[in-house]
Amino acid sequence: MQRGIAAGGRVFELIDTTPVIRSKPGAVEKNSFESGLEFRNVSFAYQPGGKTLRNVGFSLPKGTSVALVGPSGGGKSTIADLLTRFYDPSEGSVLIDGTDIRDCTVESLRQHLGIVTQESILFNDTVFNNIAFGDPDATPEQVERAARIANAHEFIIRTDDGYGTNIGDRGTRLSGGQRQRLAIARAVYKNPPILILDEATSALDTESEKLVQEALGNLMQGRTTVVIAHRLSTIQSADQILVIQNGEIVERGNHEELLEVTNGVYRKLSQLQAI
Ligand code: ATP
Repeated sequence: MQRGIAAGGRVFELIDTTPVIRSKPGAVEKNSFESGLEFRNVSFAYQPGGKTLRNVGFSLPKGTSVALVGPSGGGKSTIADLLTRFYDPSEGSVLIDGTDIRDCTVESLRQHLGIVTQESILFNDTVFNNIAFGDPDATPEQVERAARIANAHEFIIRTDDGYGTNIGDRGTRLSGGQRQRLAIARAVYKNPPILILDEATSALDTESEKLVQEALGNLMQGRTTVVIAHRLSTIQSADQILVIQNGEIVERGNHEELLEVTNGVYRKLSQLQAI
C-alpha cells in the first residue's frame, strides 16, 4: 500500500504539471496547412543574457525541404524546438501560413507536425500500439500499411507475435535500426504535412542503414521537411541548406552552390566528412 501511495503521488504530480508553453487566450485553431513556414528575425536564449540563436530568418514553402547542418552546439535542434513550440523566441517570430504560431492553439499547431528524432520514445507495449500511438480507431490494415512504407513490416512479422509482440521498455528488444523504422512507421501513420527529422548519427550496419534511409525517403515524400541532416544523400537532395554556426545562419544555398564558396564552412565540413 505504501508503495502504491508513493507511486500514485508521483503520477498525480506529473498529471498536474502545467506546461510552460500554453495557448494564449483567443488563440485560433489552425486546421489546415496551406502555403509554408517562415522564421522571421528569430533570436532565442535559454538563459537571460545569452544568445543561442541570433537573427535567424528563412522561408520554407509547402512541400519543400530544408537541411540544417553545422558544428555541434550551433543551434540546429533549438530551431526545430521553436517550430514545435517547445520554446518561444525571445525576439522575432515563427510563422505558419503567415500567422505567428503563438496566435494558434498549441494542439492545433502540433497536429500538423510529425517528429522523428534519435530518441523517439517507444513504449513498453505492442508493435501495433507503438505505431498507432493512442489512436483507438486504428485498424490492422492501416498499421500494416504504415509499417510497410517504413520498411518495418518484414522484421515485425518475423517476431514471435508479429504486431502483437511486446517490444520491451523503450524498445530494448529491438535493434537500433528497427527502433528507428518503428518511429518512422509511427510518423507515416500520423501522416502530418510537416516533418521534423533529426537524423541519427549512430552507426548502423550497411543493410540496416539502407533500409532506414529508404524509409526516411518514403516518409519525406511530398511533405514540408526540416531535417537536422548528417547524411550525404539527405543533404544533397534538400531544396535548401542552412549552415548554422554559433546560433547564426552563416551560409545558405543548395549543395552545389555551397561547395563553390571559397573558404566556406560547408565546403570545409564536406571535406572533413567526405560529404
Ligand atoms: P548537435 O549537433 O550537437 O545536436 P545543435 O546544433 O543541435 O547541436 P543545440 O542543441 O540547438 O545545438 O544547442 C545550441 C546551444 O544551446 C548549445 O550551446 C547548447 O549547450 C545549448 N542548449 C541546448 N539545450 C539547452 C537547454 N535545454 N538549456 C540550456 N542550454 C541549452
